[in-house]
Amino acid sequence: IHPVYAAMGSTVFERMSALARERGAINLGQGFPEGPAPAPLIEAASRALREKSNQYPPSGGLPELRAALSRFYRERQGLDLSAAEVIVTSGATEAIAAAVLALVHPGDEVILFQPAYDAYAPLVRRAGGVPVSVTLQPPHFRYPMEAVRAAITPRTRVLFLNDPLNPSGTVASPQELAAIARLCIAHDLVAICDEVWEGVRFDGAPHRSLMGVEGMAGRTVKIGSAGKIFGLTGWKVGWLAAHGDLAVALGRVHQFLTFTTAVPLQWAVAEGLGMDAVLRELTTGWAASRARLRSGLEEAGFVVLPNAATWFLCADLSASGVPLADAEFSERALLEAGVATLPVSALYEGEGAPTHIVRLCFTKPDTVLDAAMERLARWR
Ligand code: GLN
Repeated sequence: IHPVYAAMGSTVFERMSALARERGAINLGQGFPEGPAPAPLIEAASRALREKSNQYPPSGGLPELRAALSRFYRERQGLDLSAAEVIVTSGATEAIAAAVLALVHPGDEVILFQPAYDAYAPLVRRAGGVPVSVTLQPPHFRYPMEAVRAAITPRTRVLFLNDPLNPSGTVASPQELAAIARLCIAHDLVAICDEVWEGVRFDGAPHRSLMGVEGMAGRTVKIGSAGKIFGLTGWKVGWLAAHGDLAVALGRVHQFLTFTTAVPLQWAVAEGLGMDAVLRELTTGWAASRARLRSGLEEAGFVVLPNAATWFLCADLSASGVPLADAEFSERALLEAGVATLPVSALYEGEGAPTHIVRLCFTKPDTVLDAAMERLARWR
């Protein structure tokens, strides 16, 4: 067994969800919506199952989906990606793996901002790379550019950016993106930009892709997710986008990871990307759930951090007068109150992790959110 996996436990998402199932707890830990899926997408997938081929699509993805994504990004983000420069993957996690395998050589240093999706660092290590962390701190989670500059060495090859950022739901400012782009260009780095939350934004928060910043088109791998855009996490349809040879290389990696992805779901996502009303309705529903969880948490005496994106709210335990570290809070809230949350320190490695923030997923029916808040209020 490779040493990266020998001493590894299950991811915090899997652990919290398994424990929630076992205890019958309300699961606000792992990020996924509950409630009915968007009917037009289900209808499109069912129609594709009945009427279209159920055999292998091309490895890079259903041509109609690649074309739809090229259009989607041109219209919404002003990006100039051809259909051939988009590769459909089995979820964004495969896309992340493909990007790392394509780009990271043994000994390469990779800048990772924490908090980070816990898949990044192990993948970098398995590729022989060395993750170099730069830590973002609550409540604002801004990019400490001095620390980024200090972390770059002649061995740095890749920089990971997750924007909008999970768990905080913050969006990088144009100034932050410009500063990150300047460093990538000056040090000849490739950016792996995990933008799975690009479609889940509130209060008119704008989002610009790092790929669209001047000088970045040829050095950015952009990662997206239908699971997040449509709230269909179990579909595991994601994608990579990059220009020219970089896209070709990513396609080579993908062909020997999963080869391709469930084709009826690709048809449905291709149709869904053109359904503006569905996209608007999803956002409106999630925004209402976000407001409900925020007021429920505040009524229960929790201080909630500002957010502009994602399915998550973060509560500040110390500001709320809760004398527990996040990991202990999450464990006890699950076992004693019956509510699963996510301790944000689990998304950090090494020194400097904040231990006073917990993340709660709000994309749940009102009755579920109300019951969770009642349990937490009674228990705390
Ligand atoms: N991105 C999801 C979350 O933050 C987790 C992804 C997963 O569990 N594979 O909850």
